[in-house]
Amino acid sequence: MPSAALSPAVLAKYEPVIGLEVHVQLLTATKIFCGCANRFGSEPNTNVCPVCLGLPGALPVLNEKAVEFATLASLALNCRVNQRSIFARKNYFYPDLPKGYQISQFDRPLAEHGWIEVPTADGGRKKIGITRVHMEEDAGKSLHDGFADSATRTYLDLNRCGTPLCEIVSEPDIRTPHEAFEYLTRLKEILLYTEVSDCNMEEGSLRCDANVSIRPRGQEKFGTKVEVKNVNSFRFVRMALEYEIERQVEVVEGGGQIVQETRLWNADEGRTYSMRSKEQAHDYRYFPEPDLPSLIVSPELLSKTKERMPELPEARRARMIAAYELSNQDAHSLTASREFADRFEAAAKTARNPRRVANILLSEVAGRLKALGLEQERSPVSMAGIVMAADLLDENKISSKQMKQIFDACFEKSEDFPAVYEREKPQQITDTSAIEKMIDEVIAVNPKQVEQYRAGKKTLAGFFVGQAMRLSKGQANPALLNELVVKKLEEY
Ligand SMILES: [Zn+2]
Repeated sequence: MPSAALSPAVLAKYEPVIGLEVHVQLLTATKIFCGCANRFGSEPNTNVCPVCLGLPGALPVLNEKAVEFATLASLALNCRVNQRSIFARKNYFYPDLPKGYQISQFDRPLAEHGWIEVPTADGGRKKIGITRVHMEEDAGKSLHDGFADSATRTYLDLNRCGTPLCEIVSEPDIRTPHEAFEYLTRLKEILLYTEVSDCNMEEGSLRCDANVSIRPRGQEKFGTKVEVKNVNSFRFVRMALEYEIERQVEVVEGGGQIVQETRLWNADEGRTYSMRSKEQAHDYRYFPEPDLPSLIVSPELLSKTKERMPELPEARRARMIAAYELSNQDAHSLTASREFADRFEAAAKTARNPRRVANILLSEVAGRLKALGLEQERSPVSMAGIVMAADLLDENKISSKQMKQIFDACFEKSEDFPAVYEREKPQQITDTSAIEKMIDEVIAVNPKQVEQYRAGKKTLAGFFVGQAMRLSKGQANPALLNELVVKKLEEY
């Protein structure tokens, strides 16, 4: 194992250079070159036809929807879309690739020269370049376990053959595993907002390979790169890169040389293993796909796609921070998914004070969900319920303590806010003399604070309000209480 032997000083002598290749399955109804269903989880080998099985004489027809999705993703990633791109055959033999080649794009991809902005560890921002976005088809799947005779046989499921993919290749601009993690997080977020993919990593809708090398700081020439494959979560990508950087530093520090190779990440052991060296790597013998014409993205399609572009996460956060006076972190929580942000904003619009809706959602509701380990979708309190709570609070019809009690009951009984509110109808004390009596009591037992208040420490009014509210068991009308506390204190 590396890591233990390496001091931070040794590690700091080297600069990591990281590039990422991400494959994303597009959410089209049918496959990229045939009419078979593009669906995860069907019975093996049921969504297949002569085209995706690569039977002789079968001809591919490009799925227009896949082009639209790939174009939308390219534009969202700030890429320049080539008006004319070319499909090419990438030739290799593999059991789950019955055609013996994959239709991909090579020297003329769909889109180029994009970027994603990521937050850096020191609080700044950095643009990571995107070299290209190209379209291709997915291969089938080899099933190595789960069968009685898995020890001696491999099974094939060809349903995935011909699933439309976008491959998104970054520039080698990434310098730390943290930046790699941020890049992937932002990328996934953008793709989810454009709704071109579900980005489900467990189902393989989003897959990531990482290229990593090291070089002495100050040196311009890149070191020999290693490709890490088979990493199925962003957290593991970060761990695999940390491991690989340390391994490479150790090799170089020990006088050795980095071998250009493909390595596999083993999550159980927390390390990478050599899979094959590049000398054995394939020469794919790319050539233009003779059965498909050039892919033309017309100016009409381009402008139609631009019109369909949703507000993207970064822009949405900036707008929401301004509109609801949110912190950066709260804005991230509210925009975690487009659907959630939409629901929040639709609800907030109907409230007297939208900012209060955000506050209640993020503190009262999110806090209780987190304590119970529940996802947002499982919340007993609806957005409409949160709006009701916010309005009641805003109109001083309930105190914040009463609101908290209602939320407690909602989560205990798994009921929405309006139901609990209607049943319990929290009592409010609006009788002036009753409230004044409580304030008098508080004033009588806190002579020191009264003196400080009279000496000019006006903020102490809040202390008296709090004490009197407690005395009223949270039932005093907050507006009235505030008003009377000030009046009483000024009288003394
Ligand atoms: Zn098919």
